[in-house]
Amino acid sequence: MGDGLRIELARVYGFCPGVRRAVEMIEEHLAREGRVATLGAIVHNARVVETLAGKGATVARSLGEVEAPAVAITAHGAGREVYAEIERRGLKLVDTTCPIVKRAQEAARRLAEEGYTVLIYGEEAHPEVRGLLSWTKGKGYATLSPQELPELSAKKLAVISQTTKDREAFWGFVQEVISRFHPSLEDLRVVDTTCPETGRRYQAALELAAHVQAIFVVGSRNSANTRKLAETCRKTGVSTYFIESAEEINSDWLSGLSRVGVTAGASTPDEVIDQVIQRLSQIGGDAA
Ligand code: SF4
Repeated sequence: MGDGLRIELARVYGFCPGVRRAVEMIEEHLAREGRVATLGAIVHNARVVETLAGKGATVARSLGEVEAPAVAITAHGAGREVYAEIERRGLKLVDTTCPIVKRAQEAARRLAEEGYTVLIYGEEAHPEVRGLLSWTKGKGYATLSPQELPELSAKKLAVISQTTKDREAFWGFVQEVISRFHPSLEDLRVVDTTCPETGRRYQAALELAAHVQAIFVVGSRNSANTRKLAETCRKTGVSTYFIESAEEINSDWLSGLSRVGVTAGASTPDEVIDQVIQRLSQIGGDAA
């Protein structure tokens, strides 16, 4: 540690465009019209949720809990029935569904309408996947392994992905689908609905990890993508500190180090990352 500490930032880190857009849409609504309830946390980050709460945003687990005159669908999107119910209740809608998720929903809807059984590579319980399933109007299945699927009599199969899944893994899944169903399959459609943003963060973290002595991964512990980012760094063998805020940094961690890296998950706001950089700079020197 000492004057020579160099702090490097990952090439890509922090809010992805979809989350940034969602937060901005909520802020604009709050400034213009006041109260809004979000259907689930708008971002998996307590700091962002608290800041928005201070401006009039509440978090509702279901439409039944909404007391505000407006409701916001998060960047993960929602199913068809949610839109119908919002209309039925006469609530104003702030739809922050990420355009990349919207594209996946459109694919799910169109493929189902064209008579395909839609297989979604993703976690069934994830809100985005629940939404995608709903857009298939009962003609979809969500799974991470085709072996878990029931026998399907469908001759027309389509495969799409939860947007945050790894692209390579998605294509591996497609191969498994072919192996499992090819004898009876007549028509297979594949729409790659993965989002490049998550992968770009992992790739940038790997590049950073290759030339620093320790890496600080900033984000909420309840954010799956930040946890995975930390895991990616750890696997390279570099000392990895997964922190939620600057206050958690222990100056002993920097002892003897001359080069450290900083990255952050797609749900981590800029201000938290800036505070981490400031704190590291104070302890060890100036940011590069
Ligand atoms: Fe949209 Fe991609 Fe961000 Fe998800 S990770 S909100 S799909 S930009």
